[in-house]
Amino acid sequence: MANPFQLDRSWLKGNLHTHTTNSDGPWSPQDTVDNYAAKGYDFLTITDHNMVTNVAGLRTGGLTLLPGAEVVVSPAALGQTIHVVVLGPTAIPEDYDPANPPPPQALPTFGKWCELFWIAHPFWSLLEPADILPLEGYIGVEVYNTICHYHTGRGCSEMIWDTLLLHGRKVWGLAVDDIHRENQAGKGWIMLKAEDSTPTAIYSALRQGLFYSTSGPQIYDVQIQGDEVEVHCSPCQEVAAIGLAPGTGWTTHRTDITPPYEHVHIPWDVGQISLRIECIDEAGRKAWTNPFFI
Ligand SMILES: [Zn+2]
Ligand SMILES: [Zn+2]
Repeated sequence: MANPFQLDRSWLKGNLHTHTTNSDGPWSPQDTVDNYAAKGYDFLTITDHNMVTNVAGLRTGGLTLLPGAEVVVSPAALGQTIHVVVLGPTAIPEDYDPANPPPPQALPTFGKWCELFWIAHPFWSLLEPADILPLEGYIGVEVYNTICHYHTGRGCSEMIWDTLLLHGRKVWGLAVDDIHRENQAGKGWIMLKAEDSTPTAIYSALRQGLFYSTSGPQIYDVQIQGDEVEVHCSPCQEVAAIGLAPGTGWTTHRTDITPPYEHVHIPWDVGQISLRIECIDEAGRKAWTNPFFI
């Protein structure tokens, strides 16, 4: 992955998972767009259940609107279906039956009718690594899902993400709102470095992982130099450099500098196959970089 923090492009703010009154969301499609436009977002995907909400006729308010949907594939080991967010479809194929969803192994065929897709809220779904490891074609997993966090406390999915990375899957971690019946808009989003704000450029940057995810903190820069990582961020209480072997990783708790942290140098364990950064602010909100593959 290129380091998105080193790219000379503007950050674009976006939410890629949101429901409207076309399924079980709080607002009409137009009100949903208006709410995110008012919050200063640059792009938005409406992902109603098992249908593609038509965004072509909506007033955009300056947002890039990417078509999307949330679909399911058949049950995982414990009986929970696997939710999948698809981006860029024009329609759900007629042979897709949500009441009788296809097996997870059918996921690669999804790539024929959408631009890209990922696994939604794995912790909320209580997915096990064994449920996801056989799957192919997805760009990542939701490392943070606002509504899952606020409703059930199971919004963060770092462990299953790291397990996939450990098994060699080069997958990204996405933060999304996934708003349903109540207003939890604007609490989980990504910051993306795309060449421009067209759908094509956004899809390309998403595939390349040129973004970080956050439920609050901002990350301004990350540089890896030898056995040290330099991080610039909004004021945080913890910054962690997380490796991919048991016992590896460094946090600001092991340094002699005191919070709040806005510019820190953290040692890290050279020799790891990847490294990712997490920043936590005073309110417990978190930001996650994608893994840097060394
Ligand atoms: Zn879902
Ligand atoms: Zn959803």
